[in-house]
Amino acid sequence: MEPEKIKPEVHPKLAHLTKERREEFYNRFYNEKNSVLIDEFKIKGNANLHKLFEPKIIDEICEYCNVCLWEYYPSKSTQKIGGEKKCPRCDHTIYPNNEYSWRSYRCFCSNCTRVRFEKEERERKELEIKMLAEHEKLKEMLKNENEKPINLTELDFNEKVYLLSFLKGEQASSSEISRFSFYRPFMNLAPTTSLKEDIIKVLLKCKALKISQNANLDSYNNYIENNNIEDLLVSKSLELNINEANDLYQNCVEYLQNELKSDFLKGVIIWRRVALHECVEYLNDELLTIGLPVREGTTTVELFEELLNIYSVSQINKITERIIERAAKDKLSGSSSNTRIANNVVGGIRSYANKGINEGWCSSFVGLPEERRKPQSLLSKLVFNDVLSIGSKGYINAPSLGIFTVENGFNQNIIPPPVQ
Ligand SMILES: [Zn+2]
Ligand SMILES: [Zn+2]
Repeated sequence: MEPEKIKPEVHPKLAHLTKERREEFYNRFYNEKNSVLIDEFKIKGNANLHKLFEPKIIDEICEYCNVCLWEYYPSKSTQKIGGEKKCPRCDHTIYPNNEYSWRSYRCFCSNCTRVRFEKEERERKELEIKMLAEHEKLKEMLKNENEKPINLTELDFNEKVYLLSFLKGEQASSSEISRFSFYRPFMNLAPTTSLKEDIIKVLLKCKALKISQNANLDSYNNYIENNNIEDLLVSKSLELNINEANDLYQNCVEYLQNELKSDFLKGVIIWRRVALHECVEYLNDELLTIGLPVREGTTTVELFEELLNIYSVSQINKITERIIERAAKDKLSGSSSNTRIANNVVGGIRSYANKGINEGWCSSFVGLPEERRKPQSLLSKLVFNDVLSIGSKGYINAPSLGIFTVENGFNQNIIPPPVQ
């Protein structure tokens, strides 16, 4: 079908000119002064003369309407670029290619808008289908990968303790508070993020946990690519892979207590681990409070490991508090860099603690009271209360075998050991 040609109207201000005169006017417009032309062609004052010119009908056809486009006259300054082409029926517009302009023009006629929308819809659907397929693939893979659930007896002491903390975390996630927007599941699992991640990694490795078939795909990929554990937890993409379903928590506690009776050292080891991370947590919380960088490298870990041979968490935190007070003053004076001051804190804790040992006041040194302890993590609570049954002694005593080997036996009125 022949394309339709729609005739543009002549502007009333140009109506007194014949077609030939108008064409002459338009052709001379780009080379002559406006004032001269306005005089000669008797135009009633107008700064944007080219806007009065009726567009040319050109051979290019609107891709939607089979109508010949109109080409508008450009202004004097945009003559090199050319005027825009527009469909008189649907307003579809082709803008001149302008390499020099920072603006990119897009046509917003109803046809182009619809086409763009349809394209976006198509792409969105394709993506959705792709995601679904990937999720199916993931499900299939996890189904094949996950072997049979394991038995509680297959887990070692440490793994069982970590399992308990996960169970506590799950319990907290389904409680009242989890409905608040600030709540992040498993937020308070362990004193430090590194220990929290370690717990989950250990549980995945021993297959006490598995990635759920309904895992969140992004979280799963983030875990595979970046080893991101936090995402797995937040999206609740993990599930238990243990046979004993009833009273799992209590069963687990009983297993642990039996194991402890034959080997108290296991209790001291887990006590020391929790204590170490509580010391690191206190130090770094306090450093952050006064705007200093955290210290959690080997030097810091070795320091606290050493001090826990003599001091309790409560005592170490008290020493840390004193040194931090000094650091806050150093920071105010601005005499050293923040990194240096933070490093000095670690060094300061060591010399203060050594002084206590050399001068013999380390055992009588009064620690930070329980009320000022950092909010206790789930792991800490269950280790000290449920597994070791030593309650707050886990905080105010230095980790030692003495606490378990009193004559009355484990799990009863425990006499605190002498701290040396
Ligand atoms: Zn059109
Ligand atoms: Zn368009």
